[in-house]
Amino acid sequence: MKVIVLGAGVIGVTTAYYLAKDGHEVIVIDQAPSSANGCSFANGGQLSYSHIDSWSNKSFLTEMFFGLFKPNSFITLNDFSNKNFYRWIYQFIKNSNPKIAIKNSLNLYKLSSLSSNLMEKILKEEPEIDNGKSFDYHRNGILHFYRHQKSFNNAIDSLEYFKKTNLSFEILNADQCIKKEPSLEKILFNKKLVGGIYFPNDASGDCYKFISKLEKICREKYSVKFIFNCEIKNILTNYKKITGINTENGVFVADKYVYALGAISDKLLKGIKINTSIYPVKGYSLSIKSTGKIMESNIALTDNENKIVYSKLGDILRIAGTIEMSGNSLSSQQKNLKFLHKIFNKTFDIDYKKNDYNEWCGSRPFRSNSMPLIGRIAELDNLYLNTGHGSLGWTNSLSSAKIISEIINHKTLDDFKFLQDEFIQIYNH
Ligand SMILES: Cc1cc2nc3c(=O)[nH]c(=O)nc-3n(C[C@H](O)[C@H](O)[C@H](O)COP(=O)(O)OP(=O)(O)OC[C@H]3O[C@@H](n4cnc5c(N)ncnc54)[C@H](O)[C@@H]3O)c2cc1C
Repeated sequence: MKVIVLGAGVIGVTTAYYLAKDGHEVIVIDQAPSSANGCSFANGGQLSYSHIDSWSNKSFLTEMFFGLFKPNSFITLNDFSNKNFYRWIYQFIKNSNPKIAIKNSLNLYKLSSLSSNLMEKILKEEPEIDNGKSFDYHRNGILHFYRHQKSFNNAIDSLEYFKKTNLSFEILNADQCIKKEPSLEKILFNKKLVGGIYFPNDASGDCYKFISKLEKICREKYSVKFIFNCEIKNILTNYKKITGINTENGVFVADKYVYALGAISDKLLKGIKINTSIYPVKGYSLSIKSTGKIMESNIALTDNENKIVYSKLGDILRIAGTIEMSGNSLSSQQKNLKFLHKIFNKTFDIDYKKNDYNEWCGSRPFRSNSMPLIGRIAELDNLYLNTGHGSLGWTNSLSSAKIISEIINHKTLDDFKFLQDEFIQIYNH
């Protein structure tokens, strides 16, 4: 069967891989000059298989609310003339109801557990991906550290919901945190480290490098065709079917189509009556070079109170975070970058000079309940969606791609039936 994958981000390329491996003829179309050039380019690098909290939960909501009143915080809201923004916030608040939030977190955990297994499998089956540590992959766990007792206690309490799962973690005091990652000493010295939770099964790696390798494998081993620099203008339909993809280079036709365009092209779906409720939640990252002894343990770090993640990716340290809701604009706001620099300086003792870092921003494709859309639109025979992964797109890419390829192959996935619920009411008749 011929399948067109729309989008060559981490979601599109992993989808193309599993489909081509199953014997389908696959074409991937993207407007960028190469794969992983959108939100997948310089993300936090964390494979947070255990950090499954849906963002829409009560404590996150409270932190966001108070963050709004701080002059320099992780959150910026700036889209007040857009009615979709208000709709999204309203839904986000509704989805923060504890019952809904716990259900969503447990479902996200199912996705991330599958991803974790698939990562090990793909690295065995396609050894070139990690040949010579080429995507800076480390499976040394992630340490979530806390500066305030109250948020540390809340984080410990929230683990209660996962007691029926096989989630592994260790609760550590401040000294034990330093033993795991000595470069947190500055926070301890300033009497600001109260403890942490270590998730041993988590990992980190450079998403862009992983996807570049996987793209090469897709081309050379599985004959996937990539068409870059090709903007998709609209999706053509006739009654209950997609009949083609209209691009700046003409119309492309296939038997089936997988939509994986991330945060910025929701309008294409709106054009065919589909409302995914995806909002582009912008985040920023710094890639600091030559950080010497910082994070030599290769354990990735998460500062939950400031919503910042740290990953050591080869000779750079990636710092990523912040939440900016300002619509589709991709211009960067100095305020958010300043925030990352400030927290980095508070956390580590290192003098980095002006030219030693790169700054970046990207838009996470976020749904108001943090759940991705993975499946088929009942109203359109041959359109499949794999999108809306929010802050966990790198983490959940392999499971999402595997699941969508199984759905396309008409296989039943009992463990992932919950994904169908996300498709209720997204088509406007
Ligand atoms: C600051 C930050 C830190 C993050 N940290 C992490 C992390 O540590 N761990 C984690 O799991 N996730 C993280 N994420 C989230 C993760 O990066 C995203 O969920 C993921 O990249 C989304 O992938 P995607 O393929 O859906 O979208 P994208 O990577 O944006 O890919 C979409 C592609 O579609 C193309 N496209 C869009 N419109 C068109 C069009 N009209 N025509 C043709 N092509 C088009 C774009 O060029 C792009 O290549 C982070 C995100 C940010 C912003």
